[in-house]
Amino acid sequence: MKFQDNINLESALNFDNKYTRELPADPETANKTRHVASSCYSRVLPVKASAPDLVAYSREMAGEIGLSPKICESEDFVQIFSGSRILSGMDPYATCYGGHQFGSWAGQLGDGRAINLGEVVNKEGNRWVLQLKGAGPTPYSRRGDGFAVLRSSIREFLCSEAMYHLGIPTTRALSLVTTGDQVIRDMFYDGHPEPEPGAIVCRVAPSFTRFGNFQLFTYRGELDLLRRFTDYTIRTDFPHLGEPSKEVYCAWFEEICKLTAEMIVHWQRTGFVHGVMNTDNMSILGLTIDYGPYGWLEDYDPNWTPNTTDAEGRRYCFGNQPEIAQWNLLQLANAIYPLIEDAKPLEDSIQNYSNHFQDKWQNMMADKLGLANFHKTSDDALINEMLKLLQHLETDMTIFFRRLASLEVSSNTKHKSSSHNLIDHFSDAYYIEEQINEEYKIRLNKWIEQYRARLIQDKTPDNIRREKMNSINPKYIFRNYIAQLAIDKAEQGDNSMVNELLEVLRKPYDEQPSKEALAQRRPEWARHRAGSAMLS
Ligand code: AMP
Ligand code: MG
Repeated sequence: MKFQDNINLESALNFDNKYTRELPADPETANKTRHVASSCYSRVLPVKASAPDLVAYSREMAGEIGLSPKICESEDFVQIFSGSRILSGMDPYATCYGGHQFGSWAGQLGDGRAINLGEVVNKEGNRWVLQLKGAGPTPYSRRGDGFAVLRSSIREFLCSEAMYHLGIPTTRALSLVTTGDQVIRDMFYDGHPEPEPGAIVCRVAPSFTRFGNFQLFTYRGELDLLRRFTDYTIRTDFPHLGEPSKEVYCAWFEEICKLTAEMIVHWQRTGFVHGVMNTDNMSILGLTIDYGPYGWLEDYDPNWTPNTTDAEGRRYCFGNQPEIAQWNLLQLANAIYPLIEDAKPLEDSIQNYSNHFQDKWQNMMADKLGLANFHKTSDDALINEMLKLLQHLETDMTIFFRRLASLEVSSNTKHKSSSHNLIDHFSDAYYIEEQINEEYKIRLNKWIEQYRARLIQDKTPDNIRREKMNSINPKYIFRNYIAQLAIDKAEQGDNSMVNELLEVLRKPYDEQPSKEALAQRRPEWARHRAGSAMLS
């Protein structure tokens, strides 16, 4: 990427605020919590930070909108992306949306701690919305203060960029700054609020529109606004579908179902658990959005959820994600039904979601195993038995697949696959050594033989298979306990680990031998430690 050296931040960013230009604004301008009817957004200004300081920035995201490293390291940058200085091209606003939370309609929610600064169009003509998360209250803040703390901002910043480098559709993060102000938080919701350092992430996406935006208009009977907003969304974010009409609304919904299925397949591939799949946290573009109490599977456990407030019902656990996405799509279908007045095409798309998901998931699993294709007759059983084995003992999913890739299979030799050697080969992946018993050893051996037979059919040499597998099974994920280590340091004023992780997570599929420690399974001390095992 080539940057002009003499250009400043203001002239580098080309603002074109289509959202506020074309959609109806809340006529009320005072920044107080309220019910906002018949509007898509409310104009609101961020709060000035008392001593903003840069923690980290993403050079890829910066480059995408034409910002050089020199600009990102300037005082201007910190001022602007802490919300302390507003550029003339900006038009800050918070958007109005509703949503289903944990299965129940929650009414108006909206951007309670997010303020969009405006939209920039880059040299390639791509539109990016710049959004500050944690820059102060908005009319949608309800009982919240509109601010964010450093620990959750580090988690959002690093995970957004980690997801991007893993090839998972996601909103992005440009920058992470501390504000110099304290924010009061009751971290464990147990009546012990404490001051914590405040921080702001600048999130970036082509659009932050959620299923909940459409839902709110329909729920309120604001059908003209529903149509206007839908047409705006199609023309802006889905222009390839053509001018809005009943047919185009249906094609649009079909596409949202597909994008959502693809996103969920990526989550299942890497062991990502969102944790709060409410309909206000579902992006219309199929992007992973709103990084709250998310987590990554360590041992493969479909029932696992990182969200302690969901520990009882486990609605949003790993294994439920595909079905919950479909339930959410159904709520979106209900919301846009008034535009179409024919349930059939919407129902068909919901059904297609299942087929599409199933299809994509099977192919993804075949890829994870390094198979050339998914063969229904053999591979269903192969995959099912593997998933059972992963649960038989606490087995780290990420490490297991990397170890599987390095197993010499086709070159054969009985000696290599003796049960003793096999257990040794996978030992890094096992959490509890005492769980390894004879039954497991026999089943693992049997499964490896089945796998070997299947690979021999494919005739793929081990080295090619390994390369393929290692390009989709990551070595480095943003493990919960590692996030916590970086947070602990940053809270002491040392940002080095945040920046080290940002660097390592840029190449999640590479071996990076000097960073081996960051690929280890969760140590025992982290099993029950708040922040590492539990997040709320
Ligand atoms: P979330 O669980 O982060 O998706 O948030 C659900 C709703 O609560 C959204 O409308 C948020 O904007 C709002 N919210 C969450 N945290 C805060 C906060 N600290 N201040 C104001 N609003 C918040
Ligand atoms: Mg949210």
